[in-house]
Amino acid sequence: MTGEEAIVETRGLEKAFGLVLACAGIDLTVRRGETVALLGPSGSGKSTLLRHLNGLTRPDKGSVRVLGVDVVAAKGSELRALRRRVGVVFQQFNLVGRLTVMENVLSGALGRVRGPRYGIVTWPKAVRAEAFEQLDRVGLADRAYQRAGSLSGGQQQRVAIARALLQRPELVLADEPVASLDPETAASVMDLLVRVCREDGLTMVCTLHQVDLALTWTRRVVGLRMGAVRLDELTDRLDAVRLRGLYLSDP
Ligand code: ADP
Ligand code: MG
Repeated sequence: MTGEEAIVETRGLEKAFGLVLACAGIDLTVRRGETVALLGPSGSGKSTLLRHLNGLTRPDKGSVRVLGVDVVAAKGSELRALRRRVGVVFQQFNLVGRLTVMENVLSGALGRVRGPRYGIVTWPKAVRAEAFEQLDRVGLADRAYQRAGSLSGGQQQRVAIARALLQRPELVLADEPVASLDPETAASVMDLLVRVCREDGLTMVCTLHQVDLALTWTRRVVGLRMGAVRLDELTDRLDAVRLRGLYLSDP
């Protein structure tokens, strides 16, 4: 289901690092409930674009609106409030390996329940129950009290997804969420990520550098090259051969 409301809206977004134009005037609109892949080769500006969406990077020019917030103008408490509404998933999972799986998931609720908290029992019971529910959803309820660092890469990314969900986000941003995983695990983690986002009616923007993953798992593909949008189409209208030609052949 795709509502009309624009959740993400960038206009004329430009960002340079020295002589490199990482974003060369990007207009991107993502509507509520969409799952969008930002697809492109390494260095095409995918991560930079994504980082603008929760204010981790500021543009040189252009506007960025996310969940109704002017991200370029927002600072301090307004930016923190926006970030609480945006769940993030990273390539390297970013769990605290020496803490338990449960503690890592619970940290997703830190925006709602003030910390610091030492140990699981210091969290409100309702939040613990909710964390357990999310962990069950990603298939890892039986690992709750294991050290996060002892899990496999695929399991760690599932924990990171549960953590992001505990935030009760409206938008999920994932930067190469499966790039560190073997192909089979990558497919199962993409399946999970897209499924939970759809179940919860969340909007999802995910950077990917593999054509097949984008075609299989997302509904819309935005293709970037050298910081510019070169393609923006619904996945079912795209031809894999043409897409591979666009992304894998020229220099
Ligand atoms: P992608 O995620 O598609 O691989 P990035 O957004 O990471 O691309 O990078 C786009 C371009 O901007 C690259 O040329 C990269 O080297 C450059 N770049 C990105 N972040 C920085 C930074 N913090 N400092 C300098 N250059 C950067
Ligand atoms: Mg990147």
